[in-house]
Amino acid sequence: NKFIFVTGGVMSGLGKGITAASTGRLLANAGFDVTAVKIDPYLNVDAGTMNPFQHGEVYVLKDGGEVDLDLGNYERFLDIDMTSDHNITTGKTYQHVIEKERSGDYLGKTVQIIPHVTDDIKRQIREAASGHDVCIVEIGGTVGDIEGMAFLEAIRQFVHEQPPEDFLLTHVTLVPYSKNGEQKTKPTQHSVKELRSIGLQPDVLVGRCDDRLYPETKEKIALFCDVPTEAVFSNPDVDDIYHVPLMVEDEGLDEYVMEQLGLQEPAIPKDER
Ligand code: ADP
Repeated sequence: NKFIFVTGGVMSGLGKGITAASTGRLLANAGFDVTAVKIDPYLNVDAGTMNPFQHGEVYVLKDGGEVDLDLGNYERFLDIDMTSDHNITTGKTYQHVIEKERSGDYLGKTVQIIPHVTDDIKRQIREAASGHDVCIVEIGGTVGDIEGMAFLEAIRQFVHEQPPEDFLLTHVTLVPYSKNGEQKTKPTQHSVKELRSIGLQPDVLVGRCDDRLYPETKEKIALFCDVPTEAVFSNPDVDDIYHVPLMVEDEGLDEYVMEQLGLQEPAIPKDER
């Protein structure tokens, strides 16, 4: 199993889900069996009770699971069917832990966020990934939100439990234009600093911008965020989100990710297995 975690900085609605789904699409094109997990750090057990006017469409899976619309993006981009186990929420995780506590499974221990909640998060991720070549795990919300902390802590632990070549962290941030037409990297620098303060160093940075990032913008981001310049990619505004995989492919995101994860094109592509 290879894992690609996708976090977002600066603000929500940047295109983290679309970037994650596009990365998955490119790996699926290369013949890999790709699945995805969406983490929603809210206390609702699932999206079924959420107001669609506030939250957007509730997406219904084949198994009847009522989940976040991002899972719809993954099903469409990756051409797969997912189950409700692929949507992890704070509510669902606490429900598991509290049920185990009530039935005495913790054998008298004090039940805590670390390690009991974080262990349950890691278990859910590993189970959803089981049997697939690559699992893309998107963490909803923005780095630094109090709601997301247990999930980011679980990922920090995960890094040490996997061989380094099985794990990649992609961080999606905003690169705004200033009034004089410069691409500004400070929000990216700050959000990477925030990520580092919780012990996570991104391997790949994706800048959401009106246009592609200029080479000098990429160099500056690389220097300040301690990644190679080749690890910085653009996610420019497009008219049709199904063009995003082509935009990131054009900058070589798929090749970079495969190289970092030591992924060789599979001998037997997924469709022929
Ligand atoms: P996040 O996961 O960061 O909250 P999403 O991936 O759900 O963001 O995207 C937020 C919105 O932005 C969606 O409506 C999506 O269709 C749109 N979007 C994402 N990427 C792009 C892009 N490159 N160009 C135009 N619209 C985009």
